[in-house]
Parts: sequence; structure tokens; C-alpha cells
Amino acid sequence: MSTRLPQLINGEFAQSATDTWIPVTNPATQEVLCEAPAATGEEMEQAIAAAKAAFEEWREVPVTERARLMMRYQALLKERHDDIAKVLAKETGKTFEDAKGDVWRGIEVVEQAANIPSLMMGETVENVARSIDTHSWIQPLGVCAGITPFNFPAMIPLWMFPMAIASGNTFVLKPSEQDPMTPNLLAELFLEAGAPKNVLQVVHGGKQQVDTLLTHPEIKAVSFVGSVPVGQHVYRTATEHLKRAQCFAGAKNHMVIMPDAQKSQVVGNLVGSSCGAAGQRCMAISVAVFVGDSKQWIDDIKEEFAKVRPGAWDDAGAAYGPQISPKARERILTLIKQGKEEGATCLLDGSGCTVDGLPDGNWVGPTLFTDVKPEMSIYNEEIFGPVLCCVCVDTLEEAIELVNNSPYGNGTSIFTASGAAARKYQHEVEVGQVGINIPIPVPLPFFSFTGWKGSFYGDQHAYGKQAVRFYTETKTVTSRWFDDDIADATHSGPNMT
Ligand code: NAD
Repeated sequence: MSTRLPQLINGEFAQSATDTWIPVTNPATQEVLCEAPAATGEEMEQAIAAAKAAFEEWREVPVTERARLMMRYQALLKERHDDIAKVLAKETGKTFEDAKGDVWRGIEVVEQAANIPSLMMGETVENVARSIDTHSWIQPLGVCAGITPFNFPAMIPLWMFPMAIASGNTFVLKPSEQDPMTPNLLAELFLEAGAPKNVLQVVHGGKQQVDTLLTHPEIKAVSFVGSVPVGQHVYRTATEHLKRAQCFAGAKNHMVIMPDAQKSQVVGNLVGSSCGAAGQRCMAISVAVFVGDSKQWIDDIKEEFAKVRPGAWDDAGAAYGPQISPKARERILTLIKQGKEEGATCLLDGSGCTVDGLPDGNWVGPTLFTDVKPEMSIYNEEIFGPVLCCVCVDTLEEAIELVNNSPYGNGTSIFTASGAAARKYQHEVEVGQVGINIPIPVPLPFFSFTGWKGSFYGDQHAYGKQAVRFYTETKTVTSRWFDDDIADATHSGPNMT
């Protein structure tokens, strides 16, 4: 029997009493690494109740102490960086370099959480009326919940609980059931860094456990990252139950290539940003929009794509790993087939990809389509695989119109030597994160992760100042003190009573 993963409830890592166990597999081999529980209703209640009880104490802990916890956590995560990345690589199939990046981007958010005192400063104005002053306090909400996807099992949980907990809340995390070992390890290290036992709870499972969090009266705010249909369900259900919600969803990211761009930059960056992490990134470039003569470079891109190969996490020559599951692979293969049937030209087809010695892996080779039209499924649907669709247009205006007609708005980039073209693009494009000669413009944690349109439901985004606003309430205090009080204070004293 494989190892059964514990849950962190009430300060202890303990085995679930459930009779439903979800196998967690190595996507390169199908070996079962462990089984994750589907938390029982009682365990969900215990986790939420423990977080609620902990909140009453945690909210009184000085902000400086909360910051120091994050400093210790950051140091420990850095010390154990490679160990976490190894666990992560095994359960996701990511290459070791990529797995390390996943951990590192999370550590950077913990660094930001260590800055919490300045992020929680309110505002003051003296004399808003004669002798009346107003100031605002930032106070935590209570128990917050996080629901995370499979594709960044370190970074995305770390987008959430460090900022929420540093802000004075307690937290219930429900990670993806496809790679829950990394989040468990992050929670172990959080306790080792000295976190009070009940400020973080980790429960496992799927829809049923998520729905409990979305409807439970003690959960005040829900952070979600995942696919569009689930994101919409989470946003609708959480807000219907009068909770705050921030839901980061799917994407279809375009790179616009102007004819004056540097060809070598375009070709190299397109390969990495579309095939890296097997295309399983919400900021992956999945559509290349060639403006005018830049379409001549499609042959060079094909040549570079053909050199790229997937492989096991510890294969130093592999550009990326397997898809997360056989189901994800099948879905991608179906979309590739549809692309061909709908009339796109498949310049390179990764459907039959194999990797020596790993016949059972969920492999998809680099796939390149051209002559792609906006009405095709491969253009409209998020493929979430190493598949790049090339679209050709005549002008920058047409490119902007194409991107703005997409229902998604997570990320985009433009490659050009023209400041004027870049300025026009960044100003007019309806996408929340824009790269100029940068393919995957993920903001560092002192900014926020600002997807738009169908890629995000809510208003305050992840990490940075916006995360603190999301996880807190502002209380505004207006005060007046009377001169008589000074007189009273002057005259009061033991010998005046
Ligand atoms: P997913 O939507 O299948 O799962 C996300 C989470 O929701 C998991 O914890 C899962 O257990 C839970 N869940 C699944 N089905 C549910 C249901 N019916 N009801 C309630 N909860 C449910 O997503 P995934 O496949 O794990 O992740 C990939 C997706 O995440 C992609 O669409 C990707 O673009 C998106 N993503 C977006 C961002 C972003 O910042 N916008 C970042 C990373 C990933």
C-alpha cells in the first residue's frame, strides 16, 4: 500500500478517517507516489473551527512578530529550497530547473509578507473639521481559504497563506489533489519556522471539500486559482454566500511580433514561453501574432521547436516534462486533431511523442500550427500544453483588435524595436500584464498579479498591496477631544478627589 498523506488540522498532521483516497502519480511513469484523502465533513468542520479559534489569538499578535515569522519562514524555505523542488518535480514532472523556479517565486512572496508592517499602515488627516482628526486602521478579516491548481504547487499556495496570515488572518488551504505533497511540505516547514499551530490548516480533496469552504459561514474570503469553469463556480458560490472572492482563471496569451523585432530574441523566447513547463503555465504564450513580414520567421521557429524534447525531471537535457495526467494529455491530443480538421496547418505535431525508457509518461511533443483563425477551437480554447498557434495580420491595429477580442486577459507581450509601437500596444491592449520584449511578464511580489477579463473574477489581485487589501478591512476612526478634558486632566489627581 502506498503512503497516505496526512492533513494539517488542529495543529497536528494526522491521517484522515475518510474512505476515499486519491492516488497521486508521477506523471512520467504513472507510479503512485502517495494517496491524498478526500477530507470528511467532520474534518472540514474541525479545520475551520480550529482556524476560527486561532484567529482570536493571532489577531492580537503584534505585526512585528508576524513579520518575523515570515522572515524565519523565508530563511527556512531558502535552506530547504532544493528538497522542496525535488518533491515538486516528482509529483508534477517539471524539470528540476523549472521546479526550483516554482519554489523561488513563492519564496519571493514570503519576503513580501515579511514587509507586512508598512503594508498595513493606515491613513491619517488632522483637522478634518475644527479639532477633529480621522485615521484608518487595517484589520484582518478572520478565517480565509485558498484553493490552488496543480501547475504551481509551491508558488500559488505561497501567493496566498503567507500574505493572509501576515495580515493577521488564519487560513485553510485546499491544494490540488494532483500534487498535494509539496503544499504539505510547505506547511510542515511553516510549523518548523515557528508558526503557531492553528494559524494554517491544510485539508485535501476536490469539489466537495471546496464547496464546504465556499458555503461555510466562518470563511470570510476565498482565494482561488484554476480553470475558467471552476473559477466561475467558485466566484458565484462564494459571493452568493456573501464572501469576498478573488478567482484567477484560465488564459490564452498572445505575443505580437513586429517586423522590426530582433529575430533571434523572438525565436528563442517563443520556444521557452510556449513549451516551457509543458505549456502548463497560465502565462504561457499560446498564440504568436505575426505582423506583416515577421511571418517569414515561422520557418525558423519550426526549426527551433523541432530541437526541443520533453523528458524526466532529472534529465538535464529535457526542455520540459510530461503533462500532469493521462486525461490532460488526451485533451491536448483531441485539440490537436480538431485543429487539423478545422483547417489549420500543423507544421509540427507532438501527438505521437515518446521518451526513451519512459513509455507510460504523459508526453506531448512541441506542436506548431499556422494559418490559425479566431473561430478555431485551438485558438479559442486554453490548450494548456506545448502547442503554439501562429496567426498572421497586416498591421499593429489588427493585432490589438485580435487580442482585445479574446475573452481572456491574463498576459501578453509585444516584441518590437519601436518605442511608439510598444507604447501604443501597452496603452490600448485590454490585458492585465504586458511584456515589452519580455515574453512572460509575471510581476514581482511588490506589485500584484493582475489578470483581467475572463482570466480573473474579483477586484483585488494576488500579492503586493492588493493582497493586503483583499485580506483586510479598513476601519476609519474620527475623533474629537474637548479642551475641558485638558482642564480636567490638569486639575485631577489624588489630592483633588
Ligand atoms: P482546476 O480548476 O481543475 O482545479 C483548481 C482547484 O479547484 C483544485 O484545487 C481542484 O481540486 C478544485 N476543483 C476542481 N474541480 C472543482 C469543482 N468542480 N468544484 C470546486 N472545486 C473544484 O484547475 P487545474 O487544472 O488544477 O489548473 C490549471 C488551470 O489553472 C488552468 O486553466 C490555468 O490557466 C489556471 N491557472 C490560472 C492562473 C492565474 O493566475 N490566472 C495561475 C495558474 C493556473
